[in-house]
Amino acid sequence: MRLESVYWSRGDSDLGFARTNLRELPLPTGMRGAQWLLQDFLPRMADYHVARDQPGRRGVSYLSVHLRFGTVSVRQLAALAARQAARGCEGAQAWLSELAWRDFYFMILWHHPQVVSRPFRREYEAVQWDDAPGLWQAWCEARTGYPLVDAAMRQLLRTGYMHNRLRMVVASFLTKDLGIDWRQGERFFAQHLNDYDLAANNGGWQWAASTGCDDQPWFRIFNPVTQSQRFDPQGRFLRRYVPELAAVPDRHIHFPAAMGPAALAACGLRLGVDYPWPVVEHARARARTLRRFSLLGQSADG
Ligand SMILES: Cc1cc2nc3c(=O)[nH]c(=O)nc-3n(C[C@H](O)[C@H](O)[C@H](O)COP(=O)(O)OP(=O)(O)OC[C@H]3O[C@@H](n4cnc5c(N)ncnc54)[C@H](O)[C@@H]3O)c2cc1C
Repeated sequence: MRLESVYWSRGDSDLGFARTNLRELPLPTGMRGAQWLLQDFLPRMADYHVARDQPGRRGVSYLSVHLRFGTVSVRQLAALAARQAARGCEGAQAWLSELAWRDFYFMILWHHPQVVSRPFRREYEAVQWDDAPGLWQAWCEARTGYPLVDAAMRQLLRTGYMHNRLRMVVASFLTKDLGIDWRQGERFFAQHLNDYDLAANNGGWQWAASTGCDDQPWFRIFNPVTQSQRFDPQGRFLRRYVPELAAVPDRHIHFPAAMGPAALAACGLRLGVDYPWPVVEHARARARTLRRFSLLGQSADG
């Protein structure tokens, strides 16, 4: 059967493409949509260096999907940011350097195409990752018992976007707390991110797994609870995506498993029923990761 007749016989729309649900996305689409987002971001750019790490605030530009699909020019963005940075705007300087990271990862992929399937740093090919299907499922389904990780994964699953700070947190959690190979997480992101980009995604995952070119040192392991306390202190982001924790007081929302029975009863939360117990204990998982990397003969001095 010829290709056209397959398309036409399926009764889909013109040119053989199924109708999209783009209008249902809470995302302004096309070049006009990109300019709308840019205009929305410009007055906020001066504050970017402070607000960019707080997922509960509208601190970033949300332009990644447009950069990914070419509906905005990176040169236009870089020129705008450079002009502001030259006038001493710290936020613009920080934003410009994020745009530069994007180019940096393109450059890495171009010159080191092996990173697509292997660690940038050869010595990390020997890392023995765990085969842990139950933990993997918990991560994918946002039920790890660590609210920041679960909220982030729900943001991804519901919107096709995840805030940068949270991408770092969940990638670190998968590789350093659950001991699972970064390539599994990289693939999952590829399937779910609207802004999925091979170079940036690979760079981000290798950074978090400590196998990349400018990576997070392997002995620096994010604590998902302190990351939550630091970057979402009032739990605004947590409550949006994990509403079952809405009544938990701010001081406990980052790790409800530490609450005593009276505190749990006071806010009507049943751990293991309404919200899961943690799938791993962070301190133990951290010790395992340190062992995993030190077996390669690496010392914590670098
Ligand atoms: C594990 C992991 C996976 C990632 N996967 C992707 C991906 O598939 N596609 C993608 O575009 N970005 C990826 N990033 C980078 C970053 O998280 C997103 O670019 C950013 O969250 C997009 O939101 P924004 O447009 O509001 O960013 P802003 O903070 O407004 O930044 C502006 C632009 O700079 C670029 N940028 C910002 N931070 C980075 C970064 N760390 N690395 C490379 N470029 C950056 C993006 O093009 C972004 O749109 C990943 C980061 C990590 C840690």
